[in-house]
Amino acid sequence: MTTVDDRVRGLNALYQDRDAAEIIAHAVTEAFPGQIAFVSSFGAESAVLLSLMASVDPSIPVLFLDTHKLFGETVRYRSRLQHHLGLEDVRVIGPRKADLELDDPQGTLSMHDPDQCCRLRKTEPLERALKGFDCWATGRKRHQTGFRQDMEIVEFDGVKYKLNPLARWTRKDIADYSATHKLPPHPLVRQGYFSIGCMPCTSKVVDEDDARSGRWAGQAKTECGIHTPKVKS
Ligand code: SF4
Repeated sequence: MTTVDDRVRGLNALYQDRDAAEIIAHAVTEAFPGQIAFVSSFGAESAVLLSLMASVDPSIPVLFLDTHKLFGETVRYRSRLQHHLGLEDVRVIGPRKADLELDDPQGTLSMHDPDQCCRLRKTEPLERALKGFDCWATGRKRHQTGFRQDMEIVEFDGVKYKLNPLARWTRKDIADYSATHKLPPHPLVRQGYFSIGCMPCTSKVVDEDDARSGRWAGQAKTECGIHTPKVKS
């Protein structure tokens, strides 16, 4: 019997010599047909993964997590990029109104308990949206944080498979692909935001070699929790 570990190992071996477009094509047509969703923040580098996905099949579901704390520029960029790439199935997901009223009635939870705020506005909505999918794809890269440096192209987070087609990509790879394919940039990038999440937790980057230094700046927190391994309930 093939175990989850066997499957992860087998896919990583298969994808070792394939480029990102080939990985996506195999994942959506052979490994997880009809069972994969792409998750995108429509942030600073999101256009690359979405462009690659659209070149394979623009009808693949894309989940956009609207935390209700995003920059207006991100919400407008989502519409622009969706139209530019011809994405056919972008699903806007987010926290439930009743949960916000109960757990963050003032909208200030991010200031005193960011982990709980991320759980409320990101982790739980995403878990609900991923029900019915076996696998989700992300645009994470190994170079971004220490937490990501050993990331495999295919992972299992305890509940779902996770595909990271850009795991090996460098910042230069991203820039080159964006230029070659004339991808519209997120409008905040030219203002110095190189990694863009929620407005209260995103600041301009001082060190250009560390794009994520603008996320939760001054805190030990570097990840929102959606990529933390899960325990199956
Ligand atoms: S990034 Fe900040 S505002 Fe967004 S969900 Fe997490 S703590 Fe809340």
